[in-house]
This record gives sequence, structure tokens and C-alpha cells, in this order.
Amino acid sequence: MIRERAYPVDPWHIRETRLDLDLLAQSESVFALSNGHIGIRGNLDEGEPHGLPGSYLNSFYELRPLPHAEAGYGFPESGQTMVNVTNAKLMRLLVDDEPFDVRYGELRSHERCLDLRAGTLERVVEWVSPSGQGIRVRTVRLVSFTQRAVVAFLYEVEPLDASTRLILQSELVANEQLPPMSKDPRVAAVLDRPLQAEEMLEQPTGGILVHRTKASDLRMAAAMEHLVETPGRHAITTEGHPDWLRTTVACRLEPGQKLRVVKLAAYGWSSMRSLPALRDQVGAALASARLDGWEGLVQQQKDYLDAFWDHSDVKVEGDSEVQQAVRFGLFHTLQAGARAEQRPIGSKGLTGPGYDGHTFWDAETFVLPALTYTQPSAAADVLRWRHSTLDLARERAQTLGLQGAAFPWRTIRGQECSGYWPAGTAGFHIAADIADAVRRYVQATGDYDFEREVGLELLVETARLWRSLGHHDRHGRFHIDGVTGPDEYTAVVNDNIYTNLMAQQNLMTAVEACKRHPDLARRFGVDDEETASWRDAAAAVHIPYDKEIGVHQQCEGFTRLQEWDFENTPPEGYPLLLNYPYFDLYRKQVVKQADLVMAMYIRGDAFTPEEKARNFAYYDARTVRDSSLSACIQAVLAAETGHLELAHDYLGEAALMDLHDLHQNARDGVHVASLAGTWISLVAGLGGMRDFNGQLSFAPRLPSRINNLEFSLLWRGLRLRVSVTSDEVTYSLRNGGGQARLTLLHHGKELEVTQVRPVTMPIPAAVPAGPAPAQPHGRAPVRRALH
Ligand code: BGC
Repeated sequence: MIRERAYPVDPWHIRETRLDLDLLAQSESVFALSNGHIGIRGNLDEGEPHGLPGSYLNSFYELRPLPHAEAGYGFPESGQTMVNVTNAKLMRLLVDDEPFDVRYGELRSHERCLDLRAGTLERVVEWVSPSGQGIRVRTVRLVSFTQRAVVAFLYEVEPLDASTRLILQSELVANEQLPPMSKDPRVAAVLDRPLQAEEMLEQPTGGILVHRTKASDLRMAAAMEHLVETPGRHAITTEGHPDWLRTTVACRLEPGQKLRVVKLAAYGWSSMRSLPALRDQVGAALASARLDGWEGLVQQQKDYLDAFWDHSDVKVEGDSEVQQAVRFGLFHTLQAGARAEQRPIGSKGLTGPGYDGHTFWDAETFVLPALTYTQPSAAADVLRWRHSTLDLARERAQTLGLQGAAFPWRTIRGQECSGYWPAGTAGFHIAADIADAVRRYVQATGDYDFEREVGLELLVETARLWRSLGHHDRHGRFHIDGVTGPDEYTAVVNDNIYTNLMAQQNLMTAVEACKRHPDLARRFGVDDEETASWRDAAAAVHIPYDKEIGVHQQCEGFTRLQEWDFENTPPEGYPLLLNYPYFDLYRKQVVKQADLVMAMYIRGDAFTPEEKARNFAYYDARTVRDSSLSACIQAVLAAETGHLELAHDYLGEAALMDLHDLHQNARDGVHVASLAGTWISLVAGLGGMRDFNGQLSFAPRLPSRINNLEFSLLWRGLRLRVSVTSDEVTYSLRNGGGQARLTLLHHGKELEVTQVRPVTMPIPAAVPAGPAPAQPHGRAPVRRALH
């Protein structure tokens, strides 16, 4: 685990002021750069030492067999694993005759800094070689938000004390060797030399490598080019081999003189394009990068981020650690989605190989809410990608004997890749999560063209799935049996309340959308009888409730299961999934992550305030937060039920998930759901934002240590800013002129905001909420108020 304050608190930068080799892998994830299409881990420029080398292209994967010890009908037999593609980061330096390697000689100073406004990672190092030559190296890298295929590196080196010979070797390397796989099921499979060389082209100052995967049959190309500046004479040569290409710059410098090399790199991949077409594509991307040069790329990156922060920044006063972390979280959320362009967003983005690079419900349920209100086109693109996989989801439904579309629990390309049924295909709720993301996007943007092109078909096919998966009992009640909800410690259950409520919303959203587009609905084969059956099912959905103790049941029978013995579970017993048999987790009241609590957030309209308070207390006492998807949602319900200090504690945990490596697996990539979830904790939690039935509403209240919270949202093209203090809130519109007006609810009271008339409202006194719920023994979050 990263010791506290490994990264000093700073509102706009993540800075590492000394190099701790034990934390290298975690810092490579934290310092990963991506634009959603290309991702590169924060590996040191010289490649070694490393924790986990990594360069990725969204959706570039290899197939691998998914063997089952005991096979069963419908088990997927083929898995997909994100490939570590050709590495363009490598720049090795020879100082006189010693390789620059921080493990040798003396590392006088080391600093890395991720600048969240510039979108660059900078490194400044002073090093003395074992034979006593001192050098200063400054490197800066970026993955361009504006030029999707481009990565750029600046490498500057100067001798400090004496005339020095410097040899810089800049490379493209395919099929890098990776560290062996651990036993943790959450890490990735290691592929053995997944890339087959197709073409190598060397030019004096760079070149191109083209490779192809063996089984998935995808082709990729990587190209590089160097611009060299140095005061004296220098020699530049390039040497190429099928799996590596090396441009070498040699020079001799006096103290005060500098070698400056700009390395431009471009990536492309395709399942269809020919080798010449792909080669030309990366060549063109490189030409475009060259046209703007290093300075141009840096400026474009800054302009892009200025615009992003202008409409997405969240300001938090009173907890500077959370302030830094929420911006870090938003930055990684943007990195994961900005240029994904009709490709999925993986649970680690493109920052590491964890979970094989798969996308889960994390994207639709955690990342898309933040993107929908800040970067809506990126949210729409993820749903367009889902739509493009509809045929595969229909096929999967057919295999399972169901109608409509059964979307995969985890995948890269669209096929189900989960090898474990209970925490895989049984997580059918992903269908309703996708439908919910469609509902939210259309409602927030009013983009009915999108609804016609993409949304309606997704809603119809997911509604069909629910209608065929569930059944009416002899009393007419609608049940959905044999599914797993978000809590993966309770699996293959009947009537998971989250699944049922989300399916209910899915069915009704489909009915409404069909009404808006009757012609298109007819084309999809929907008739009145079918929509009536959806309506009937939705109206009759069974909601399990335990009358005796007065709480809802996470699933039928949950509250009568045996309690987990938390008192005798040692801290090293967590995460439980790595230390206890599933059968024992399944038959006891122990909750991995927000499930019923999640339902009370997204389907908050289905519970009374009293029910929410009672349920939250009951389930919080049984939730161990072994998933990083939990704390952010618990923050929302803690805030809604009046436990503001607890909300702040959970917010802190979600926000610091990766900066403090709270789950001790940041090495495999950042936890994108928790990072985007930090936005949810602040906006839906402390800001109390909801969007039930197309009505935007807020109920802000701040915990004692936070004295100011400010965030912005896009709603139907209008930019709303919400500024909250401990006793009042100001709603203002930042565009739209005098005509535009936005009606919203403030603590249940309707008000209208225009650009010329911001509205300030008092925050009503909170109803006393009683003592905050207790967490399982040893599982309370860190108290922010005492921090
Ligand atoms: C969680 C899932 C999540 C997955 C990927 C699991 O540990 O239980 O809800 O989708 O991780 O982040």
C-alpha cells in the first residue's frame, strides 16, 4: 500500500518527489497517460527497472482458450485479453560507457509530475554514473487528446560537470517480456509473444513496425520519428529488426549544453484494413504530428484540457486531499473515454492489464453518469459501441434460451468472456445498466436522434430479455430468478432487488421510448401486446421485504441467512474472495459491495426516506467493500440519510482508491469506476443530485470539514453551475442567453434559473438522523473529520 502522502497534496498536480522501487508498479498506473484510444503506463523512459511494462490500444486483443475444469452448456470457451502492444516509450541513454539506470550510481534527485491541466507527465532527474559523470535528464510525454493516434515525448539531457559522450537509443519494441502472472483472479493472463511481425520499415530518423495477432487476426502498426537539436555535431542512425526498431543519436556535450530529442509516435490498428492502408494511416498521423511539432501538440493538449476543466471541474474547499483526488479522478475518467470513439471503456481504462482489459457494468453505471453530464459525446460513443455488439448479445440470449439481448458480463469485443458463471453471465443486471445509461443520456441531452439510431433498439432488446428471463407466479407477481446482483458474495439468487428494480425501469423506459417512436418500434417488431406485457411485468415486479425486522431484502431470503462472523475475521482475511470459499460467502449475510444500497440510489424513487434510512443502516453493517465500486455509492446513501460525516469518509475512500492504493492492486491499473464514482459521491452525494423521471433535482448538504463545493453540469445544452456552502446554495446558468430557463428542484422546492438570474437558496436544517450506521468489525472507513 502506498504510504500516506506519497504524492504531496497539490490541487492540480500529482507529484512524486522520490523514487521508491517497491511502488514502481503502482506509480506506473497512477502516471499512465491515455486518450481512450492509446494508453501508456508511466514506465520509466529507459524501460528498466519496471513494475509492469504496458502500452495498449483500445480493443486490440488476443483470443485465448478459456478452459473449464468441468464444462457446462453455455460456458464461453474463448477469452479475450488486451495485448501489450509495441512499446514506443523506450529511450535508453548511455552516459560515456554507463547505461543510465537508477539502480546504479547515485540518484541525486528524482521528480515526476502529472500535470492535470497540461495533460503531460514530466520527469526531472539528476544522476551520477558509477564512474562519476553527473547528468540532468528532463523528459515530458503526452498522449494527445486532439490527435487520436499520436503520442509524443521530449527528452532533454545535459552533462553537469564535465564533457560527456551521450548515446540516446530510442526504440519501438514488440513482444516485450512481461512479469509472470499471480494467482489473483483479478489480474490478467500473460500472453506469450502475441504479435507476429508483418513488416518493418527503417528510415534514417525512425520507421514503422507492423504486426498481427495470431488468433484474433488484428493488425497493428506503430511508427516513430525523431527531431534532434544539439549544439555540436551529432550522428543519427536507425536499425530495424522484425520486433524492434532503434534510432540512435550520438553526440558529445560540454556542461551547459543540451541534447534535445522530440520523439513522435503514432499507432493504428484494424481488423479489416490492408497492410499498406494501415502503414499509410500511421504515416499520415505522424506527418500530422510533425506539422504541429512538440510545441503545437503541447498547446493543443492544454487548450483541450482548459475547455474540459472549464465545464467539468469540481471544487472542494476544506479537504485538500479530496480536492486533488477528485481532479485526478476526473482526469483519468476523461483519459478513459475522451477518444474511445465507439469502443468500450475497460474497468482499468488503458492504464494496466487488470481484469484482462475487460469492460463491465463499471462503464455504464459509474463512468457514464460522470461523462453524460460533463462530456456527453463520449458517453454516447460508449453506448454506440454497445449497440454495435447487439448481434452478439442476441446470439448469446438465444444460446441461453432467452429472447432479446444478453450482454456479456465482461468482454472486449462483445462476446461473453467470463469463465465463472455465478459472477459472470448470472450478472444479467448489466442489461438494465445499459438501458439506464441510455435513459440518462437521452434525458440529460434531449438527443432524440441518438434514441432513434441507437437507444430504442437497446431498450427494446433488453426489455425482451427481462420479459423472457422473468415469470409471473400464480398470483401474478413477476419474479426474476437465478441471477446475481452487484453483490458478488451472494450469487445466483431469486429476486435480487437491484436487478428487479432496474429491470422494472428498463421495461418502462422501453414502453415510453416505443411511444415516442412508434414507426421504428414497429420495425423492430414491437406491437401493443408486447408493450402491454412489459408494462404488466413492470407493474408486478416482486420487491422482497422482511416485515419482521422492517427492511428490504437484497434478495429473497437474504435476511434469514446466517450472519458472517466479522469479529473473528482478521484484517488479512480481506478481500474475502481470496481467503474464504465462495460457498461460505454465498450462504451468509456478507455483502461485497453496494447492491440494495445501489438500488436506493439509482431507483431512489422506489423507496421512502424511512425505508432508505433503515435499509442503509442494516446493509452498511454487513458490507465489507471488497470491491472498489462500493464506497462511492455508500457515500451517496450516507449523505441522503443524513450521515454527512460518514458520507465524507466514504467519499475519501473512493477518491483515494488509487493515490493511496487502498485495495493494494493499483499496480494492475487504476480503478476507473471508483475514480468516476468520486464525482458521483460529490455531485449525487453531497450535492444530492438526482434525475428521476426527467426532473433535475438537488438536495445539497455539506459535512463539517467541507465548507464549499462547486460543480457544473450540462443539461440539455445548458451549463448549470451549483455552488454550495454550509448554509446556502447558488444555482446559475453559464450559457443560453436570456431566453433559456432551467427548472429544477431544490430540497423538493421548484425553482427556475436563467443566465441573468442565478438563484440562491438556503439549505434547510437537516432532520436529525440518529447515530451513523456501524460497519463490520474492522471495516470502518478512515474518518475524514479527524484526518
Ligand atoms: C466487482 C464488479 C466489477 C468488477 C470490475 C468486481 O470485483 O465485484 O462489480 O464490475 O470487479 O471492476
